[in-house]
Amino acid sequence: MEILLSKDMGFCWGVRRAIDMMEKATEERGEIVSLGPIVHNPQVVRELEDKGVRASDKPSHDNSLPVAITAHGAGPEVIQEARARGAEVIDTTCPIVTRSQRWAKKMAEAGFTVVVFGDASHREVKGVLGWAGPHGLALKDGDPIPDDLPSRLAVISQTTQSPERFAEFVARLMRKHVDSISEMRVINTLCDVTSSQQAAASELAAEVDLMFVVGGHNSANTKHLLEVCREEGTSSHHVESPAEVNAEWLKGCKRVGITAGASTPDSTVEAVVRRIQRLGAELEGAGGRR
Ligand code: SF4
Repeated sequence: MEILLSKDMGFCWGVRRAIDMMEKATEERGEIVSLGPIVHNPQVVRELEDKGVRASDKPSHDNSLPVAITAHGAGPEVIQEARARGAEVIDTTCPIVTRSQRWAKKMAEAGFTVVVFGDASHREVKGVLGWAGPHGLALKDGDPIPDDLPSRLAVISQTTQSPERFAEFVARLMRKHVDSISEMRVINTLCDVTSSQQAAASELAAEVDLMFVVGGHNSANTKHLLEVCREEGTSSHHVESPAEVNAEWLKGCKRVGITAGASTPDSTVEAVVRRIQRLGAELEGAGGRR
């Protein structure tokens, strides 16, 4: 069985940057509190916890601990609230997300209603909506376009969406409201790390019998990679750890492809590869003995 790795996968520079900043902060100041998990990957969160990064969904009541904003960013109210409590704020927001937030603020201040193409419950989207103030809403793939929308719209995207889906969403919005829209600004806030990982995953999925997408089950960009692989018609599985790889899936497969979400460390990918190699060897051994 041949195992092929995607040309572009795993930790993106935005996540590496955030982890480096948090590790440096713990070296200098001891324990810090990260507002939510730094990445959607339990293994990484555990490793950082061992180094002194305590993940918490709520701001700490211990004001002496610095508060770190993760790469996903946060709304201005979250940062203001932490500062008002006297906590030091370490902002590791990915610069690509910061750009999206700035656009949301700028367009809302200019009188546009900001429509974010993305999942309203995702931390990045919540943060971007925070910068749009009361003039923002989020719609994800498949959500019906509301009947009533103001006439001036600024459309931006969650950074990890695929370009095709964003383009289709904009077209859907325009088709429904072409009569009522007086002005629509589309700002491309997609992250090219994500697009290039998705393109590489799609290319690999077309060449193999089976794809594994490695990443946290709650990671949005890992889920998008899975969709991209399945769109190629290739049987694809999302696994968070090596233990989730099922030997049954490997039966009859000659070529297996692997990709990983932007929050997946290399060590997890390597562990998944080792497990596939071991299960593949066991299957071949069993086949030979028959
Ligand atoms: S996927 Fe892109 S936007 Fe998200 S953290 Fe990485 S570099 Fe930043």
